[in-house]
Amino acid sequence: MADYAKRDYGRCPCGGAYDNRSVEVRLTVGGKVVVLTDVPQGACPNCGSRVYKAEVLERIETLMKGTKVRKAM
Ligand SMILES: [Zn+2]
Repeated sequence: MADYAKRDYGRCPCGGAYDNRSVEVRLTVGGKVVVLTDVPQGACPNCGSRVYKAEVLERIETLMKGTKVRKAM
């Protein structure tokens, strides 16, 4: 089991409990579409609010920053 599966998302401000699920996230990095699969996400069944874990956000940020920008068309 992955590390981040240990932690809970807690509760949504609306009072609902976040559901644990895996989604596909598409990012555009330097003009390229990067698809991340099996991204753990918390989704509130009441209001539809979505949250990501810190590890996931870090991974996404690293991807965004780590990609070298190429100016060639
Ligand atoms: Zn909610």
